[in-house]
Amino acid sequence: MTDIKKYITPFSVTGNEEKLAAIIAEDMKPCADSITADPMGNLICFKKGEDSSKRTMLAAHMDEIGFVVTFVENSGLIRVANVGGIRPVSSAFGEVVFKNGVKGVIVLEDNLQLADISIKKMLVDIGAKDKKDALKKVKIGDYLSLSQRVTRLANKRYAAKAFDDRIGCAVLVEAAKLATKVRYDTYYVFTVQEEVGCRGSKAAANVILPDYSVACDVTPTYDTAGAQPGEVKLGAGAAIKIKDTSVICSKTIVDRLTALAEDKKIKYQYEILTAGGTDASSMQTAGAGSYAGCISVPCRYVHSPVEIIDAKDLENCAKLFAAFIEEGV
Ligand SMILES: [Zn+2]
Repeated sequence: MTDIKKYITPFSVTGNEEKLAAIIAEDMKPCADSITADPMGNLICFKKGEDSSKRTMLAAHMDEIGFVVTFVENSGLIRVANVGGIRPVSSAFGEVVFKNGVKGVIVLEDNLQLADISIKKMLVDIGAKDKKDALKKVKIGDYLSLSQRVTRLANKRYAAKAFDDRIGCAVLVEAAKLATKVRYDTYYVFTVQEEVGCRGSKAAANVILPDYSVACDVTPTYDTAGAQPGEVKLGAGAAIKIKDTSVICSKTIVDRLTALAEDKKIKYQYEILTAGGTDASSMQTAGAGSYAGCISVPCRYVHSPVEIIDAKDLENCAKLFAAFIEEGV
């Protein structure tokens, strides 16, 4: 499996995906006939298939949630706004890094009650003496993210921020390497700006106009304390999406992925995500529409600095994608 750290370390807050795109482009070279970037920054890797009468689009998003500087107080403390779905409680008192390398910590206004914690009450302390000092190091509009750290846990499980969805990018690259043949003309698209409404994939899908499309993203698990009863568990295999709030997956794709998993003895489970969407929605509705689905990586504590994934799930997701690339529908 592709080195996890390599994909998790680069700064890639929504709108700043270029570093990760360069790493992926390098890794995809042996698997693509052409590699291009579109005006939004989507990385599009094309591989000609045995049957060019159909086009497949596979997508994983490169962007991660983060923050942007909105104001600097006289004290030198920095006000921020969220970029994507930040969970204030889980981000408070964490370490952050700016795109230019400046480091800081997220703090809260004093004397807040738990219920009052919001991004408006969050500030970043970079150790500045005052406003003038802070503005020597960062400026309005600078982007920052939670600090990069990957912790290896027991049972080949890993904790880090923003596995969502750089781990999906790693799965797609791995699948491209695993596939021994390519059935249809295939576009591996590493998208931008998913976390703010699947924006990059809309632009890419409207040019590619796929017949078949499969996204790769993370999905929350239901095996955590206090979770609603639900099917998806960490380590229980590739999660074949049935629906989320953005897409009702095509039965053609769900059935095909299920048959491939059964046939190749790939561990799988079904996923119904009750809050959240994916790039599958953009691909499904582009042009005249496509047969769309999604293979999800089970992930605990999504959008926290300690998202947890299981390496066995990654392998199963990559194998299932590879089978789909090889055999098609
Ligand atoms: Zn995601």
